[in-house]
Amino acid sequence: MSAGTLRKAKRLVESGGVAEVGDGIYQVRSSSDASKSYIVDGDSCDCPGYANFYKFHGGKGIRANCSHLEAVRIFRGEGGG
Ligand SMILES: [Zn+2]
Repeated sequence: MSAGTLRKAKRLVESGGVAEVGDGIYQVRSSSDASKSYIVDGDSCDCPGYANFYKFHGGKGIRANCSHLEAVRIFRGEGGG
């Protein structure tokens, strides 16, 4: 987890960019384009960054991550570490 990702995630939460839209499903605004948003469902996100990470690292024991997943963790009070 890079410091930049965590900083982006915190900013998203602080600016109200995270909303719960269903049971364990969250809509998170894109940090680069406020008109876009992504759906985070459990441990997955539908942003291109997550898809790329998973494509290259999936199955190697590395869990994909992105600022949206991290924002949801902070939003739920599980972040900060
Ligand atoms: Zn994402």
